Amino acid sequence: RKRIGVMTSGGDAPGMNAAVRAVVRMSIAKGCEAYAIYEGYEGLVKGGSLIKRMRWEDVRGWLSEGGTLIGTARCKEFRERAGRLAGAKNLILNGIDALIICGGDGSLTGADIFRSEWPGLLDELVKKKELTQEQINPFQHLNIVGLVGSIDNDMSSTDATIGAYSSLTRICQAVDFIDATAYSHSRAFVVEVMGRHCGWLALMAGVSTGADFVFLPEKPPAAGWEDEMCDIIAKHRKLGKRKTIVIVAEGAIDRDLKPVSASYVKDILVDKLGLDTRITTLGHVQRGGTACAYDRMLATLQGVEAVEAVLESTPETPSPMIAINENKITRKPLMDAVKLTQSVAACIKNKDFEGAMELRDAEFEE
Ligand code: ADP
Repeated sequence: RKRIGVMTSGGDAPGMNAAVRAVVRMSIAKGCEAYAIYEGYEGLVKGGSLIKRMRWEDVRGWLSEGGTLIGTARCKEFRERAGRLAGAKNLILNGIDALIICGGDGSLTGADIFRSEWPGLLDELVKKKELTQEQINPFQHLNIVGLVGSIDNDMSSTDATIGAYSSLTRICQAVDFIDATAYSHSRAFVVEVMGRHCGWLALMAGVSTGADFVFLPEKPPAAGWEDEMCDIIAKHRKLGKRKTIVIVAEGAIDRDLKPVSASYVKDILVDKLGLDTRITTLGHVQRGGTACAYDRMLATLQGVEAVEAVLESTPETPSPMIAINENKITRKPLMDAVKLTQSVAACIKNKDFEGAMELRDAEFEE
């Protein structure tokens, strides 16, 4: 009976538990055994009680739960070969040769490196007399499947990451609350949302709440944006709007790559428009709470697909990443998606905003 490991890694995101639940139950339904690896790569490296057989009922009630109940961690050791060697040994000791990882581009890169070193890691363990040839013989091929869990929706080649719509929902609820008080006092609010390299949350929150102005990492405003922003807001006010909402992504920058801070935006609104202005940094509430319906559905369908991908994989197929494109659950080559994501980030870092946009557009023209 095949043993399939599942783990969550990197930043937590609502829907990760739904993904684990789907992987566990689909594995069992297909006649396999499911194992949860707790605390991300930390659990892989340390092994022992951090790798646990999961039964059907162990994931009862997990569909809606936020965060990740099997834990996540940043793990320095796994970045080194010695850590991955320990991870390989723990997998063999548990008889696991398929791993489904739900995380961001960092976690999926780590997983692919791990696979590329296989079965060399096993030979090394035999040489070091930590395992015997008989122990490693049945496990010559490691299966890796990626699920993308991230509230930022920052992975290329997929339309949505697990957690993004829950976070967007949370932001909208928070802005609705702010709206009520902003309207009452005729105030302006500068709302800072998450998104270090990807402005999807800020942009879609802006659309969904009818914000007056939005600042994103990948589209810095033109020089003189202060006047443009004030003109727009003054116009809205003149038309009778009693509240002003400006959304700033935490990674928002201007053309000189200087951060656009919420406090600077507030000062502009106070100084140029005389608006009574407050700042609200939403912070970790954006990650918290239950998963929205879309994330429950996405994580469940993708978790099922991940198990199918494990069972269909051959040593020749590149590791797949489970994606969603135009409402269809799809498989994409994992490393292509990760490389594209990192190329976009590199463009932004190098001020090549048009290049970043072209890369993103190219995805949809495939
Ligand atoms: P995310 O998955 O959300 O992008 P990180 O980049 O922090 O988050 O990655 C999570 C974990 O994945 C790291 O703590 C590390 O253990 C592992 N990891 C990330 N990048 C690599 C890499 N290049 N090689 C090996 N492991 C990596």
